[in-house]
Amino acid sequence: MSKNTIPFINCTDPYHTLQCYNDFMYVYVNGKIVHAREAFISVFDHGFLYGDGIYETLRVYDGAVFKLAEHLIRLFRSASLIGLSIPLNIDHLKIAIYETLIANALRNAYVRLTVSRGKGSIGLDPDLCPEPTIVIFAQEFKEYPKEFYKNGIHLIISATRRNYKKAVSPQIKSLNFLNNILAKMEAKKKNALEAVMLNVHGKLTEGSVSNIFFYKERTLCTPSLECGILDGITRGMIIDLALREGIQVNKGQFTKKDMYSAEEVFITNTTMEVMPVSQVDDQRYIVGNGAKFLRTIYQQEVKAYIAEVKAKGPSLWAENE
Ligand code: PMP
Repeated sequence: MSKNTIPFINCTDPYHTLQCYNDFMYVYVNGKIVHAREAFISVFDHGFLYGDGIYETLRVYDGAVFKLAEHLIRLFRSASLIGLSIPLNIDHLKIAIYETLIANALRNAYVRLTVSRGKGSIGLDPDLCPEPTIVIFAQEFKEYPKEFYKNGIHLIISATRRNYKKAVSPQIKSLNFLNNILAKMEAKKKNALEAVMLNVHGKLTEGSVSNIFFYKERTLCTPSLECGILDGITRGMIIDLALREGIQVNKGQFTKKDMYSAEEVFITNTTMEVMPVSQVDDQRYIVGNGAKFLRTIYQQEVKAYIAEVKAKGPSLWAENE
């Protein structure tokens, strides 16, 4: 079947169609690659029943998975924080991801790797689930609209607070996403793309799927991990790149007033990379040189990384050519 005839369904997001799936994709489910229409997990899976599990989102550029090791290390850290033992090691997971990409003939893709507690009787005890469920799917990467990068996007500060870090730590990249979903729903109601949550102390944390940054008095500011955020892989790279370029970085505790009075605001994640913000609530910002510069050097870093991965060969993506 040619790609053009694949019916894309479930595209309800007016901003972006990243999440579209189709029945003709191949999905990795517990060691096997099957058609999406045959890719099932049990209704007794504790990931489905209780949100008991973890995941990673990865981006593939020209056949090479960006920062694969970093994402898998974070996956294993999330697993360890919920006492989940993943039955595959890092190398096996790398192979499973590349096999999924090859099966779908994808070179520029979005990959979602999910590990749930697995199938078990009703009850919260993880010991009810003898075997975790592992699912990997990959879809062609759909670029965000160019206007988002040119003109910036609209954020709100949500009334929904970020999970208290001593309750469900935001460092666990968990399937239990209701906190973020509630914030995102608030954003959608106000025609904003992303919602920034405060923590229980009223300090800025992060977006529903992104980390936040702002420039103030020539310093790049971002909430510290202590505020209760996911340590985004893109965030880490942006901090390192900024420091390398001699930009002062302040990882701290900030209020929404600090962000309102900033000169520039942007958000980061694996799929958006660096996305400028033109509005937070009623406060407007220019899409300035600070965010543009960091986006450019981030993209240069991506290119260099991909070239380095490919130069290492022998390559799995070669089978895809
Ligand atoms: N915070 C949250 C809550 C997220 O879901 C994400 C997306 N994974 C991020 C931050 C950004 O993380 P990364 O840069 O690793 O994609």
